[in-house]
Amino acid sequence: MTLATAAQPLSDRLAALVGSERVSTDPAKLKEAARDLTEVRGTPPDAIVKPDTVEHVQAVLRFANAEKIPVTPVLYNTNVGGLALPAHGGILLDMTGMNRILEVRPDDLYMVLEPGVQWGQVKEHLDRNFPQTRFAYSLSPPETSVVANALMDGLLNLSLRFGTCAEWLNGVEAVLPDGTIVRTGSRAWTDQQWCTNAPMPDLTGLFINFHGTTGIVTKASIRIQQSKRLRRRFFLMGYDVDAAFAVVRALVKEEICDDIGILTWPTAKMLFGETRPVWRDPSEPLMMLYADMSTNRQADLDLRMSILDEILAAARAKGAKFQGPLDVRDLVKIEPRFQKFAEFPTRLDFLLDHKGGGLSWVGTYGPTSRWEEGTKLSMKIMEEHGFPPLAVARPMAQSHFGVLRLIETFDRDDPAQVAAVAKVNMALVDALLPMGFVPYKTPAWVHARYGDKLDPGFRELLNRVRKVMDPNGILNPGKWSV
Ligand SMILES: Cc1cc2nc3c(=O)[nH]c(=O)nc-3n(C[C@H](O)[C@H](O)[C@H](O)COP(=O)(O)OP(=O)(O)OC[C@H]3O[C@@H](n4cnc5c(N)ncnc54)[C@H](O)[C@@H]3O)c2cc1C
Repeated sequence: MTLATAAQPLSDRLAALVGSERVSTDPAKLKEAARDLTEVRGTPPDAIVKPDTVEHVQAVLRFANAEKIPVTPVLYNTNVGGLALPAHGGILLDMTGMNRILEVRPDDLYMVLEPGVQWGQVKEHLDRNFPQTRFAYSLSPPETSVVANALMDGLLNLSLRFGTCAEWLNGVEAVLPDGTIVRTGSRAWTDQQWCTNAPMPDLTGLFINFHGTTGIVTKASIRIQQSKRLRRRFFLMGYDVDAAFAVVRALVKEEICDDIGILTWPTAKMLFGETRPVWRDPSEPLMMLYADMSTNRQADLDLRMSILDEILAAARAKGAKFQGPLDVRDLVKIEPRFQKFAEFPTRLDFLLDHKGGGLSWVGTYGPTSRWEEGTKLSMKIMEEHGFPPLAVARPMAQSHFGVLRLIETFDRDDPAQVAAVAKVNMALVDALLPMGFVPYKTPAWVHARYGDKLDPGFRELLNRVRKVMDPNGILNPGKWSV
């Protein structure tokens, strides 16, 4: 490796640090890095660096920090919020090259992953080598990052029982702008285990939901669970918002499910090939409910299914109309496209493979007591803006809070559609935030528009923490600027 001087181009100086094969200035790649699935646009970076090792990350950060060059970390860029788009050019740090599963400890129920490790990779590795364990999956494509999801408080198919993916973190290893390596959780005190974040001061939190503005995570210890012998996933078709949420609440109360979700009617039409459905025949179901159960005992499963039958009988006795329960294995036999909802990880291609490939959403975490109100209002807003009223709701962490997510697909190459998506998303946050539904994976436009609504003490502390972690403001600038 040669020594580069300040007079040389940025790419040469980076190549001198990490090797030219890890640096790209390909104009097409730089241009593509300024957009993601959403309506948000960034500024093309000046160079892309793809590190293989922690030492590479340290070298790039030390250099960028000394020269005050922005660094934006990115994995597979599917966060659906513009969170990995450079705001001011600089260096795009493509972390996908660090993609090893470093350790699985089945008895201590954790695994250590590099940030580039994908959902599909974990599933394949655990199923083949550690069938006594299982992990939980998001609905994001199998080739996206597990660690990114944990750093963004993502939601999984076991989140009803175990909370967001961040709650599965035992700690992280991160590199700070001056090159310092930090290990959090129990690994801060012993190299014998990394099975808990307790009893340490929770410095792992310094890297959660900060969108890479506090440090670059290079490893994460993440919990895995005991696998279960028996699993059931079934669907119900409902015709009324209130009745559907009443059934969800009754199921949650019994503590018999791993996951429960509600999807509104455009989902089914899109699954069956309609691109942007805006009309529903009143005889068609309004909502699709799904629920997962898992256990080791047939008698336990039978009991749970009988509890479900009781809940449905009570709902029907009050006049509610439901079809089902329909076992997903039977649904797949009738209609193979239901396979998308049968096994995880999965690729929801009906959201991605359409003209212009745009996908955006307002995803929120909020009080389940206001779900019905929030869902009805959001569906109305989406219809008024000409979008299919596609909503998803899921109870999280034993229903201590719930997801309410409103999804739009659009053509990214059509400026009118891009503007319409930006407008409807703003209208949705305007309506939902005052009701207590807080946008997750929070996009920069939400920070900018609603930052003054933050508790002043919180805002002050947040800014102080960021200043301590990243004094020169080089890490993913433009995010959490409040
Ligand atoms: C069809 C579809 C369905 C989805 N379903 C779900 C779902 O069910 N649940 C869910 O939670 N999400 C879902 N997602 C969102 C997203 O795909 C997942 O959260 C995914 O795990 C993000 O991974 P990524 O590799 O794309 O991260 P990226 O978008 O590349 O990065 C995410 C954030 O992490 C930062 N970052 C990247 N690397 C580092 C690092 N090493 N250190 C610090 N910060 C870093 C980035 O700057 C960015 O802010 C879905 C997305 C799609 C497209």
